Amino acid sequence: MPLYDIDSSKSNVDLRNVSHEQLVELLEGLGYPKFRAKQVEDWVWKHHVTDFQDMTNVPAKLRADLAERCALGGTVEVARQISNDGSRKYLLGYDDGTQAECVGMPNRNRLAVCVSTQAGCRMGCVFCATGQGGFSRSLKATEIYDQVMHVSEDFQTRASSVVMMGQGEPFNNYDEVLKALRMLNSPEGAGIGARHLTVSTCGIIPMIRRFAKEPEQFTLAVSLHSAVQATRNTIMPGVKKYTLARLHDAMAEYVEATGRRPTYEYALIGGVNDNNLELDALCDFTRGTLAHVNLIQLNDLEGSKLKPSTAERAEQFVRRLAQVGVEATIRNSRGNDIDAACGQLSQKHRVE
Ligand code: SAH
Ligand code: SF4
Repeated sequence: MPLYDIDSSKSNVDLRNVSHEQLVELLEGLGYPKFRAKQVEDWVWKHHVTDFQDMTNVPAKLRADLAERCALGGTVEVARQISNDGSRKYLLGYDDGTQAECVGMPNRNRLAVCVSTQAGCRMGCVFCATGQGGFSRSLKATEIYDQVMHVSEDFQTRASSVVMMGQGEPFNNYDEVLKALRMLNSPEGAGIGARHLTVSTCGIIPMIRRFAKEPEQFTLAVSLHSAVQATRNTIMPGVKKYTLARLHDAMAEYVEATGRRPTYEYALIGGVNDNNLELDALCDFTRGTLAHVNLIQLNDLEGSKLKPSTAERAEQFVRRLAQVGVEATIRNSRGNDIDAACGQLSQKHRVE
């Protein structure tokens, strides 16, 4: 339905859910020249205004016309926590009361933002706080985009990279995630280079195939956590049907199609996925692929028996992987003291 069919009594179409063509159509329908669309979009996407009155170079009459027909739903910050390492975790609230968390991680003059793609997650990974909590709903593209804008505004600096590693499984919300990626990538939006936009998936194979066909050079990370099928089934029950053999094939196709280097995430859990058999399987799974392995010391979860491996064991993993030609690094989690680290974003919240 063209936007300008929406009469004022049925207002509140969020302007951020309106395409450029629809906006041009609306403005022309109201008798304004085309170039006003670009001006309005700059306010929405570059300056992130939530009030039409702030669009200072837009004529007052047009501001009023827009306010009558459209909404500019902003997100509300419900809580914020600041970590000793400088990272900040935010709890944002949306119109319907849904809440989601995001994290800003500054590093010199760069700002990395970690966003949620769903409120909660259905996949039930046993080592992940989100997976152990409930699932509310998937987030809209604008709600994902807004997290980046919110963090960026708070740090008073533009985001240089975004990782979709907060709550939720991005590939269970593919269309909105892709829209968000495009908004983040677009020069009209956040203008972040596609390679600096990373999606992390637990391994939803049909969507990995689809992602490989997207024209942009977005980055892909896959949560592997074990290359032994029985172990993976136990710790990641939600992806049982996407077996390791099929995942291996899909990733080979991904590399073939895109030429891009994927990352495997591997959280080392003491006595679960860090023995020699697991290490051999990991070497076999990754050998000869272009993949990079990110080893993460498991972040402690309240009330969980799962514990991280020793630092020494993590280093042994790196060395063995290097011997078979696989690049691996040990990733330090940021924001551990505020439960902002990987897998610690959950539906339970502590407000300072
Ligand atoms: N659902 C997606 C993205 C969100 S999870 C996915 O699973 O990839 C983001 C990353 O944090 C994933 O690699 C996930 O496996 C990892 N993670 C979850 N719980 C963790 C924990 N307790 N310690 C370390 N990493 C964890
Ligand atoms: Fe969901 Fe990812 Fe957590 Fe698994 S690790 S429960 S897929 S958010």
